[in-house]
Amino acid sequence: MDECIFCKIASGAIQAIKVYEDADFVAFLDIHPAAPGHTLLIPKVHYEKFELTPPEVVGELLRAAHKLAPAVAQGVGAPGFNVSVNNGPAAGQVIFHTHVHIIPRKFDDGLAMWGHRDYASQAEAQQLAQKIRSFVPR
Ligand code: 5GP
Ligand code: ZN
Repeated sequence: MDECIFCKIASGAIQAIKVYEDADFVAFLDIHPAAPGHTLLIPKVHYEKFELTPPEVVGELLRAAHKLAPAVAQGVGAPGFNVSVNNGPAAGQVIFHTHVHIIPRKFDDGLAMWGHRDYASQAEAQQLAQKIRSFVPR
């Protein structure tokens, strides 16, 4: 994709501080990190979002994240990390090239987790679960 900033990083057309690269994936420091060491892992091929990324690529992407995330955490001396995908504008996706965030976490690092709520009833939870199951491809 000509205009995609992550494609340009993957091809080397624009600079990024890389921490990992293989034939299919590249990882680099997020330019506006949530925490020091915040890393973005991307496939070199352009896919707009998670569900449009072929399952075998997602498998390899997560394999690479599995290898990389502990290194990111160790590199900044963090005892934990979050691995996440923001998918779709409602979920905060801004760059429409599939990417995984690896965010090192320390105790009391000031990053907020999402809040927790309660279902109004068990019936509501059961109904939603039924609906979700109906959309899972067979
Ligand atoms: P999203 O919100 O789409 O999940 O995350 C996009 C991330 O890409 C953001 O955290 C943002 O800081 C990062 N980002 C955007 N443009 C650039 C860039 O040109 N270089 C780097 N290294 N990171 C970028
Ligand atoms: Zn792209």
